[in-house]
Amino acid sequence: MRVVRSVAAMQRIALGWRGKGRVGLVPTMGFLHEGHLQLVRAARRQSRFVVVSIFVNPIQFGPKEDFRRYPRDFARDRRLLASAGADVIFYPSVEEMYPAGFATFVDVERLGDGLCGKSRPGHFRGVATVVAKLFNIVLPEIAVFGAKDAQQAFVIRRMARDLCFHTRIVIMPTAREKDGLAMSSRNVYLTPEQRAEAPVLHRSLLLARRLIVQGERRAARVKAAMRRMVRRESGGRIDYVEMVDTDELRPVKTIKGEVLVALAVHFGKTRLIDNTIVRA
Ligand code: AMP
Repeated sequence: MRVVRSVAAMQRIALGWRGKGRVGLVPTMGFLHEGHLQLVRAARRQSRFVVVSIFVNPIQFGPKEDFRRYPRDFARDRRLLASAGADVIFYPSVEEMYPAGFATFVDVERLGDGLCGKSRPGHFRGVATVVAKLFNIVLPEIAVFGAKDAQQAFVIRRMARDLCFHTRIVIMPTAREKDGLAMSSRNVYLTPEQRAEAPVLHRSLLLARRLIVQGERRAARVKAAMRRMVRRESGGRIDYVEMVDTDELRPVKTIKGEVLVALAVHFGKTRLIDNTIVRA
């Protein structure tokens, strides 16, 4: 396994792989957990060459967000990726990705405006821009993303289609702790009390699923029940509870077809997200 820090070297390697087999890319911000490793294993199964990028992307963080204190542990990530079977870790610096004069951004209209985009303006523009760069640097045939960041996966899928990237977007299910909490690098921020309450996000999604299976079709009713549960069972502050179609991510009133149920809850300074897709 090689660690590559320059764009030029990574592009050279990618060009050398051309015609030799499929290249799979797993973009991450590091501080890896089992959820990330599942993506790496999926890439491993489906490609000859696996690149995992580790880059805490400053342009997807708001001015008051946790860019500087985002958890980092490259030595540990490197060990985990060696055993998960990555071929290359692409690990550029901020200056390497955004040299002086950088001025070009990718803006996926509409899809990035609602849900997390509301409280994180510019976030998905930052995500789409860095992923477009990674696609041009690594030239992957497939790129693997997690369903945990559903809006991100939908934004990237739209971008790949709209800009004719020859990269297929693979979305893997959310990896969870035993108590249902979605794995996240940010879970380390939680105090023991917050950690004990955090599985309420997942429980509220299970409640939504149950209500829909029982025949409830009014999104407002389901969202209200989820909100009540989060308030009753935790001290978390709700950012949003939303139900949207999986195409344009527009809020739905009536639950019909495929619907993404998603929520974001603040526990102190830590913002947790989770979601599930239901079919009615
Ligand atoms: P991050 O390092 O948070 O930017 O995440 C990198 C990739 O891992 C993204 O595609 C995420 O959706 C995915 N990911 C993060 N947490 C999980 C999880 N619990 N299960 C599955 N995929 C995840």
